[in-house]
Amino acid sequence: MARTFDKMADSLVHQMEAMAHAHDRQEAILRGMVEGVMLTDFEGRILLANQSLVSLLGLQTDPVGRIYSEVLRIPDLTSAMEDILEGQPRVSAEIRSLGPPLRYLEAHLVRLEGRGPQAGAVAVFHDITERRHIDQMRRDFVANTSHELRTPLAAIKGAAETLLDGALDSPQHARGFVEMIVRQSRRMERLGEDLLSLASLENAEVAPKREAVKARQVVAAVLATAGPLAQQRGIHLEAPEPAQDYSLMADGRQLEQALLNLVDNAIKYNNPGGKVTIAFNALEGQLRLSVRDTGPGIPSEHLPRIFERFYRVDKNRSREQGGTGLGLAIVKHVAQAHGGRVEVESKVGRGSEFRLILPLKSGERS
Ligand code: ADP
Repeated sequence: MARTFDKMADSLVHQMEAMAHAHDRQEAILRGMVEGVMLTDFEGRILLANQSLVSLLGLQTDPVGRIYSEVLRIPDLTSAMEDILEGQPRVSAEIRSLGPPLRYLEAHLVRLEGRGPQAGAVAVFHDITERRHIDQMRRDFVANTSHELRTPLAAIKGAAETLLDGALDSPQHARGFVEMIVRQSRRMERLGEDLLSLASLENAEVAPKREAVKARQVVAAVLATAGPLAQQRGIHLEAPEPAQDYSLMADGRQLEQALLNLVDNAIKYNNPGGKVTIAFNALEGQLRLSVRDTGPGIPSEHLPRIFERFYRVDKNRSREQGGTGLGLAIVKHVAQAHGGRVEVESKVGRGSEFRLILPLKSGERS
């Protein structure tokens, strides 16, 4: 008898230890999950909720022990839970958290089978805010792109129709319409090129090209390309000879394009007789390549948004200049792809300064 009791006691101790282990493991898993997890009984009383659930849903108090609909006042979630507790095996729903911050969540609910009071529900919540945000950006981008393409296309169509309706017979009018067709088709061409540049910059599968590039060489290439435009606009474009040259590991063509976009803007949005200065120096292992203009400047409320695609301060002026609204978005992408950034400082009536800040080639002294 005594031996049997001893054995039973041992086995009980083992079983209790095993249960405690299983419980600890379960706790550890729930704590480590980024997904929110909630378990309820057949009445909808919350038996278990992990920390992620509390933060994802923005709950102020511990929800355990309370009826889910009292704590989570989210109509779509309530109706999904009702379906589950009434017998549906599984339900998925997209819900908004109570916030702030507002989050979009995907909830997967599963009914726990059991008789009467043993039944219940498990709900798992995934944060899909980022995905929703990217989807929205993609939709906006497609809508903006179609709009940007439609505008020059409508102008081309109008000019061609006017020519056909009789303007062709009047040489002095005809020339103006043909020039308009050429101007607008160039704009569409530029838009196509800029869109391709952005697409290839965003294409993570293409490994970025890295070669040793000298800052002076990039500036010289941009001066040569932008020189004629500056001359045509009567803008004084200068790049004082720096005391020292610096090397970067970069895609030379992308850097040239980024700097050219900045210089092109500085010329286009300048005042008659204005000045554009390109300069560079290095500080704490970083190259600072700046483009300063004496143009009208950019009001401060626009500054946080000018690097967004298709964002323009003055729509008409940008269109008149043949702008695509993508130039600065490309600059920002190029800077980020090189582990750097772009900054702007501007004063209305005084001018603007854009700075590309990029890491120097390792071993290069600043
Ligand atoms: P865009 O093709 O219209 O020039 P960008 O992306 O290059 O597009 O620039 C976005 C907007 O920022 C421009 O439309 C213009 O309003 C403003 N901007 C850019 N650079 C300058 C500058 N140097 N001076 C004043 N405004 C500028």
